[in-house]
Amino acid sequence: MSTIIEAQDLSRFYEVSRGLFAEPATVRALSEASFSVTEGTTLAVVGESGCGKSTLARLLTMIEPPSAGELVIDGHKLGAASRSELAELRKTVQIVFQDPYGSLNPRQKIGSILEEPLKINTRMPAKERREKAFDMLIRVGLRPEHYARYPHMFSGGQRQRIAIARALMLDPKILILDEPVSALDVSIQAQVLNILADLQEEFGLTYIFISHDLSVVRFVADEVMVMYLGRPVEFAAVTEVFDKPLHPYTVALLSATPVADPRRTRQNIKLEGELPSPISPPSGCPFHPRCRYAREKCSDVLPPMTLHGETWVACHGITDGWIDYSAEPPPASTVAVDELPGDAPEEPGGAVKAPEPGSPV
Ligand code: ADP
Ligand code: MG
Repeated sequence: MSTIIEAQDLSRFYEVSRGLFAEPATVRALSEASFSVTEGTTLAVVGESGCGKSTLARLLTMIEPPSAGELVIDGHKLGAASRSELAELRKTVQIVFQDPYGSLNPRQKIGSILEEPLKINTRMPAKERREKAFDMLIRVGLRPEHYARYPHMFSGGQRQRIAIARALMLDPKILILDEPVSALDVSIQAQVLNILADLQEEFGLTYIFISHDLSVVRFVADEVMVMYLGRPVEFAAVTEVFDKPLHPYTVALLSATPVADPRRTRQNIKLEGELPSPISPPSGCPFHPRCRYAREKCSDVLPPMTLHGETWVACHGITDGWIDYSAEPPPASTVAVDELPGDAPEEPGGAVKAPEPGSPV
């Protein structure tokens, strides 16, 4: 298994005007992100809106260059790549956006939408282009007669399949999926996710699956990178992140995710306070103003990503050992269904109120 993406201290800053008389400010959309992705696997990138996920997507797809740091894709260092190398690499990495309505030209027929990347980037004859477009339509679960139709004749889920088909026309190795199912009904989400899973297996694709929805991530990811305010704060295999989350931010994110397994207890930890602005991120650990475990060190020193067990985590409390989730009292407001007294009514799909402490059960 080889590494297909390697990011080292990848950063992206934007200069923004703050009005006529004010100095321009710098938005730190992505700061010092280091990670690698194994070919044929899915890395999920999760975090609240504004944490830099789409910025990372734009760097990985080479829509924008990084402000600092280095990116190696499929063995090519982007900083040192020639124009022709970059042109080849751009075919290797394709992107699917969240909005299936905005991403397809309404005046183009589906066939022409699918064939356009081939027209621009290859010298493939028209007949072969058409065959490839038909083939790709079938692979994403659409029908040959859809070739001659316009985008408005399709549902959101079908449009997203078309966008996926278009992204695959140049035989990419990597697909960047930026919230690919977030705009779709839950019932449709599963269909699109299944198609993505089939395509991944068939073509050996590598996915960067960007999502703010952890419940989706659980079913698609091999590894998960949790981001906060432009920085990765936790990186691990999906099972580690879901079973043993370490960063207090990850714990809070998970606690807000609906629990699929009713036997599991989950305390709903409210994230206090607003997401700070990436123009003036807090000193030290960017999460410290919202963290219930924060100590003085957290506002002074930026925690580096450190390996803890099998998880990379950027948290002083974990590294220095003052956060110990196992030592915490069981959640006060919820209790797992299988721990309930026998006569308690079962509430499908979640935890129910625990008896008051000390009250007779
Ligand atoms: P996400 O996709 O996680 O919601 P984004 O990557 O879109 O986050 O944005 C990260 C931060 O960078 C946000 O604060 C956003 O406002 C800012 N940002 C993104 N693109 C630009 C840009 N072109 N100019 C200025 N600020 C930007
Ligand atoms: Mg985004």
